[in-house]
Amino acid sequence: MIPWQLPLAAVPEIKYYLFVQGLYPLIIIESIAAAAICLYGSYRSFSRWLMGQPIPIPDHLGARLANVLRYSFAQVKVWRHRLPGVIHSLIFWGTTLLLIGTILDAIESEITLRLFHARFLIGPVYLWFKLAMNIGGLMLIAGILLAYYRRARRITPNLPMGPMEHYMLLSLLTIAITGFFLDSVNTYAYRMSYMFPYDIVGYSLASLYRDLGITVAQLVPAYRAVWLFHMTLAIMSIGFIPYTKFSHIFVHGGLNVLYYRLEPPSAFRPVEDLQGKVERGEVVGATTASELTWKERLDLDACVKCARCTNACPAFASGKPLSPMHLVQALREAVHAGPSSKLVSDGPLAPEAYWSCTTCGACVRECPAMIHHVELITDVRRGLVSTGGAVPEGLSQALYNVMRLGNPFGFDPDERTRWMERVSTDLGIPFAEPGEEYDYIYWVGCNTAYDPNLRPVAESLLRLLKRAGVKVALLREETCCGEPARRIGDEYLFSENARSVGEALSRYRFKSLLVSCPHGYNNFKHEMPLYGVRFDVVHHTQLLSRLVAEGRIEPADASGIRVTYHDPCYLARWNGILEEPRSLIRATGAELSEMARHGADSFCCGGGGAQFFFDIKIGERVSKIRASQASATGADTVVVACPFCNSMFRSEAQSFGLRVLDVAQLLEGGRGALDQAPRGT
Ligand code: SF4
Ligand code: SF4
Repeated sequence: MIPWQLPLAAVPEIKYYLFVQGLYPLIIIESIAAAAICLYGSYRSFSRWLMGQPIPIPDHLGARLANVLRYSFAQVKVWRHRLPGVIHSLIFWGTTLLLIGTILDAIESEITLRLFHARFLIGPVYLWFKLAMNIGGLMLIAGILLAYYRRARRITPNLPMGPMEHYMLLSLLTIAITGFFLDSVNTYAYRMSYMFPYDIVGYSLASLYRDLGITVAQLVPAYRAVWLFHMTLAIMSIGFIPYTKFSHIFVHGGLNVLYYRLEPPSAFRPVEDLQGKVERGEVVGATTASELTWKERLDLDACVKCARCTNACPAFASGKPLSPMHLVQALREAVHAGPSSKLVSDGPLAPEAYWSCTTCGACVRECPAMIHHVELITDVRRGLVSTGGAVPEGLSQALYNVMRLGNPFGFDPDERTRWMERVSTDLGIPFAEPGEEYDYIYWVGCNTAYDPNLRPVAESLLRLLKRAGVKVALLREETCCGEPARRIGDEYLFSENARSVGEALSRYRFKSLLVSCPHGYNNFKHEMPLYGVRFDVVHHTQLLSRLVAEGRIEPADASGIRVTYHDPCYLARWNGILEEPRSLIRATGAELSEMARHGADSFCCGGGGAQFFFDIKIGERVSKIRASQASATGADTVVVACPFCNSMFRSEAQSFGLRVLDVAQLLEGGRGALDQAPRGT
């Protein structure tokens, strides 16, 4: 009979505390103790995060609650990997069902029944309730067994399996199994006739007792012992949540998602009161636990050690001394050790760990706990720069060059001007003049402006724009956009740069700033606005794809040629520009072979995060790994859309027999462009 066909009185009511009379006061004492332990642990956690600051009140509550639904309940980031997604959902939703059931049970037994002599878990409702509890328990057990299987088979590399992970899985498994045992004895005692198939597990076990000839009376002593153990384990597991990895339910699933940034993740947070800190001679960035922001300290406690960041990290893959998961864990330990503990020391906190980061953002994209590793790393870099700590010489030199010469390489600024003047004369592209109005001012970028191998990219782009009738101008005052300074950690130099660049550009009238460097794109789009410098900005692949779509540019023919495309981290991952470069490649007729890691999951070329300006000389080159991935596609041409990627691939091209071309060059020259870019140049 299905539940709704049953008369209300047909199913026996729940007999609460059957067989466990006398043990009830013990549970009350345990519950009070657990609540006190939990409150104290929560107080300790909040004190650690806030370190004396007031708790911030979250703004834009609607958007934040939407994030909670998306990331905590729908768990969209956890589901980026299928098996962990299945496991986590089984455990999460199984536990949630059991928890809801237990709460309903407690409400009926302790409130409605005691105060009003009223029940609601009766008749058909009770049968559905039992079914849901059975499903919850089975989901939980299946999830835990799968979690052990995943670890035993090492399906996810670098996944830790320490005492804490065993404690979490085994405590849940024990609660589920003992719960089924308790349920089975109750079913056996007074409700056998109605419990199949709703209480499927309890009924099956009860049938087994019956078949084995075990009586209820024989089961009672075991029942009492298991009940006490089950309740104690469940109550104490809740009490100790703030001290165990179970805290991620509230720290990560609750607070960290609620306080998750609403601005784009690549609008890397600026330093608060920068000017004041510089004037007072205070540390800019973080060298100790107390100098991190409260949100960064919260981030550290949200980590669940899932290893996704480390498995996606190009620095780790290339053998550099950086594993984002271990860095986060080590920083967490430092914060737990006290406000004055140092953030740079040995092991995972060695200076080289911080300097190995390419700021590619793969960790940030992967992290289901919504941790922003790049901001953490950048804050410590800032601390090192500001206190004259262990900054690699190449990076100190790059900062000096930006400050003195307006480019990180140390070139004479006149070289940029001379090349620009030649381009202006040869291609008929004017320099911006006050009073004139332009569609675009082209911000060439230091890399392209000084490197003879990259200048042809800018020249191709400008020829295409001229052909399309776009009114574009060069900027005589162009200097470094400040991005390298920000990545290295000199926030003050960056802010000064942003101010002077903003002043220079605001003398002219133009609709958008055109950039061909994704780092410059991100800087103008998301970072300079943090310092009040705002211009509409477009990447050259966006503009070219629009011009091709409008029929204003006729793509050159590259049919019959097989190419692969490398997504720059700052274009694809940080800014979601994936389709435009691909549409341009397709427009030429070239055949596109994708690398295994492409799109927003791209693998870094190794040039970002200021890595371009020094060589850490540990492990393999990231560029070599990426070049081998490109080569594995069978294509002998790598199309790029970033001057940094272009240079990094060129440095590996010889060994892998690859040609390297920017999208603009392919669009302009087609097959001919390949002839001008022989393999290994
Ligand atoms: S940003 Fe990239 S290089 Fe840096 S820690 Fe994250 S994954 Fe590794
Ligand atoms: S930082 Fe995020 S991705 Fe990395 S281990 Fe922790 S939770 Fe997982």
